[in-house]
Amino acid sequence: MNIQELYDKFLECRAVTTDTRKIAQNDLFFALKGTNFDANLFAKEALEKGAKYVVIDNKDYFIENKTILVPDTLKTLQELANYHRRVLNTKIIALTGSNGKTTTKELINSVLSKKYRTTATIGNLNNHIGVPLTLLSFNKDTEIGIVEMGANHKKEIEFLCELAEPDFGYITNFGKAHLEGFGGVEGVIEGKSELYKYIENNEKICFVNLDDTIQNEKTKHLKRFTFSTNKDSDVKITNITANPMVSVTYENLVIQSHLIGIYNANNINIAITIGNYFSIASNLIKQAIENYIPTNNRSQLLKKDSNEIILDAYNANPSSMAAAVQNFTQLEHSNKIIVFGDMFELGAESTSEHQKLISSLQNEAQIRCYFVGNEFYQNKIEQSNFSFFKTFEDFSTIFLTNKPQNALLLIKGSRGMALERTLELL
Ligand code: ATP
Ligand code: MG
Repeated sequence: MNIQELYDKFLECRAVTTDTRKIAQNDLFFALKGTNFDANLFAKEALEKGAKYVVIDNKDYFIENKTILVPDTLKTLQELANYHRRVLNTKIIALTGSNGKTTTKELINSVLSKKYRTTATIGNLNNHIGVPLTLLSFNKDTEIGIVEMGANHKKEIEFLCELAEPDFGYITNFGKAHLEGFGGVEGVIEGKSELYKYIENNEKICFVNLDDTIQNEKTKHLKRFTFSTNKDSDVKITNITANPMVSVTYENLVIQSHLIGIYNANNINIAITIGNYFSIASNLIKQAIENYIPTNNRSQLLKKDSNEIILDAYNANPSSMAAAVQNFTQLEHSNKIIVFGDMFELGAESTSEHQKLISSLQNEAQIRCYFVGNEFYQNKIEQSNFSFFKTFEDFSTIFLTNKPQNALLLIKGSRGMALERTLELL
């Protein structure tokens, strides 16, 4: 079957799915191979659950008129997504960067949806499978699509750009994340900049935070639309504060967000900037940002009994941890507690990055610090306000004997640490 024929079948279906648990009537199911499973095995089950067609790459599971046999289901999914993208008139904004992609994507979507029919990446579906699924979720009415692109090694963003063919690009920042796969920060900059390469080669437009020196340098020769707090730029944003929620001023309007931490300011600023580019009235931009409430353990401010909690347990890497520490140390409170979990995927730099983070707190004698996980434990140092635990279980035993009261807590660690479990101890 050629791609046009497959596309016709796709148009007959409700949506594309790769997860048998989520199949709805009339879906097009793609049987992908993971490290632990081969979804070809579920072809029949997918049909029983309501799939209209199932794309497979193992002829043993062929069922006449119901399965579509291709050489490689993943490649076909990607090809179909790009084919669909080319058929659509949708303007696509691609986002990448080390930190803040999902938050930024949600904020941009919330602003643009004030005036346009938008579709954005669902959750965090940002890789070689998620991006095709995102593209295939757009329909002919989608005016603007916002696509999050994640990467943990070079050439990944280049490939995702070839699939999505974005009209606009934004890189949140170059930070210390996925150092293992990229081989250090220089690798991160090179990898993320593949988006700028695409923009350049195809004469598209990028959005840029001019206050970020590296981003400014990297985009000087590109067509760009910019924001800054102090330089000549297309959009000017001033009076940035975080007490602890970020507030900014744009066109004489004070915008008071529900996002904690000064590091979220740029995520808000770019959403304002893109709103401005697409001619959205400033009062609507204000409304969109003020109504956005973060979910999924990302920079949430919670209250539990007498305690206030900054829950940022969704993920962690050296840059976002440093940003969180900087923010937390500036907050006024007489009883501050940090619970930090290990940062994953740092490769050769893991030890030094965990040590650096510990040292960055050495002068904060008034903050009670709990460090949880093997990497922290291996690098433990003696300090009266510090405690180190190999496992979450070890931590919880001690934590429960000294339950915080009237405290302000910061909880953050890599996803695998699932530090949101701390809430159950409070
Ligand atoms: P992932 O790589 O998991 O997709 P992401 O880039 O989508 O992550 P978010 O999920 O938006 O990032 O945010 C995760 C966390 O990163 C936040 O809770 C916060 O701690 C931190 N963060 C968000 N924005 C920034 C920023 N601009 N600079 C530094 N850290 C940030
Ligand atoms: Mg994300």
